[in-house]
Amino acid sequence: MRRRFGVSIPEDLASELDDVSRECGVDRSTVVASALGNYLASIKHYKKRHNCLGVCLAITKGELGLNLEEFKDVIVSYQHSHTDNMCVNIFLLKGDSEKILKLYYKLEKNCLRTVLVPLH
Ligand SMILES: [Zn+2]
Repeated sequence: MRRRFGVSIPEDLASELDDVSRECGVDRSTVVASALGNYLASIKHYKKRHNCLGVCLAITKGELGLNLEEFKDVIVSYQHSHTDNMCVNIFLLKGDSEKILKLYYKLEKNCLRTVLVPLH
């Protein structure tokens, strides 16, 4: 069973959604359902408090704009690289899943794109 509802997304994201739908030969609802499923699974994983291991990728046009010292207990390693006129920030994270999720939300606010992947 499917539920229909209206959402509003930025024009550039809508264009990308159209492109991916066309390239994959599926409708937009299929792409949105898949992306949302992955996002919710990731968030659910981090909401159940546990000792976690994960990787976070954050794309910026410059500084992260937050104090990483606050998260030093969960940041195992941090790499900041430059390519194609953007900054690629890669975090290896280990520790309290709630703290990792808190870092993710802060990164998501400040970065162009943020991806959090559990490794277990
Ligand atoms: Zn975990």
